[in-house]
Amino acid sequence: MNSHVLPTYARVDVAFERGEGAWLYTAAGDRYLDFTSGVAVNALGHAHPKLIAALTEQAQKVWHVSNLYRIPGAERLADRLCAASFADFVFFCNSGTEAIEGAIKMARKYQAVSGKPERYRIITFEGAFHGRTLAALSATGNKKYLDGFGPPVEGFDQVAYGDIELVKKAIGPETAGILIEPVMGEGGVRVVPSAFLRALRELCDKHGLMLIFDEVQTGIGRTGALFAHQLTGVEPDIMALAKALGGGFPVGAFLGTAEAAKGMTPGTHGSTFGGNPLAMAVANAVLDVVMEDGFLDKVKQSALRLKQRLAEVKDRYPSVIAEVRGEGLLMGLRLVPPVSEMVDELRAEKMLTPAAGDNVVRLLPPLIIGEEEISEAVSRIDRACARLAQTHARAAKQGAA
Ligand SMILES: *Cc1c(COP(=O)(O)O)cnc(C)c1O
Repeated sequence: MNSHVLPTYARVDVAFERGEGAWLYTAAGDRYLDFTSGVAVNALGHAHPKLIAALTEQAQKVWHVSNLYRIPGAERLADRLCAASFADFVFFCNSGTEAIEGAIKMARKYQAVSGKPERYRIITFEGAFHGRTLAALSATGNKKYLDGFGPPVEGFDQVAYGDIELVKKAIGPETAGILIEPVMGEGGVRVVPSAFLRALRELCDKHGLMLIFDEVQTGIGRTGALFAHQLTGVEPDIMALAKALGGGFPVGAFLGTAEAAKGMTPGTHGSTFGGNPLAMAVANAVLDVVMEDGFLDKVKQSALRLKQRLAEVKDRYPSVIAEVRGEGLLMGLRLVPPVSEMVDELRAEKMLTPAAGDNVVRLLPPLIIGEEEISEAVSRIDRACARLAQTHARAAKQGAA
């Protein structure tokens, strides 16, 4: 593959010409079942008629105006996101990593205008993923991603995930907040227990810290709730969104309570493209669909069906699948053989899935996935497991001989 695109991705040699619902088609007419969904972006699948209508209608009117002027679509979307959540204010940006940067800035600024300018440090967790800009990467703390890019941004204290005592110990006079994904996506679809989130909430309340949820991957219905934390009863002060917010149109956001946002006055933050009319038209259309009566119930039902069927596959192939886990349609299979083998076998079955940490393959169907497509997916996973079980049994036998 010769290309002038900077080779920062080890890309698979396949390209898609068009999509429809849960399916992607190559120019040659090969049809793939899409359980990557642009990594949890295409929540309504491909070529959703309502999104096409929203985008083309807005495209006839005005694309971009600058945040120097009011943008009615942004005001409407912000109203709706706040009505449906803990938040009072929203800033629109263009990606997940930008949303995280904004969330971090909001937490730091809150402390500064609360008379605690020394508080700027954010506690984060091992296995997290928060994006690729320098501060988000420093929050992520993954050495592999940081290597060679100079000193990381100061102000992040990473602790092992799961032990609240370690969090307590990490809180110091300079701590401004705690940042966590309610379900760690890239880190291997690890669902953070509600009790842990509640303990973080209590610590934040006790110490005057901002609790920040990274819902870039979990937000906008992926888990069967509009926001994953709504399943836990624990509310943050600040939240980052992106991926599914625009259903494939690049848009991110960070949201905060009025208290959290009190330092974000005119001039403190900005974005040229953030919240532009095209993005807002599409994001409002995504919300129209996701907030329709029964939509999220259907996501929960689909998730339950998929999870039950996957549990059966796991029982059939314990030498391949170690664990089925996740929340809603953010699901993962922790594997015994290397995850790359499963991704390849599934692609041979014309099914697309992304790998994650902890040797997990993620299953991220569009939220509009139908019953038949779930059955089709399970059959393909079953066949991939059968081949992997056979290959590894043979290898084990040869090893023993
Ligand atoms: C994808 C992701 C990000 C980064 O989003 P980009 O749009 O790639 O910058 C941040 N946090 C989480 C949890 C993500 O899944």
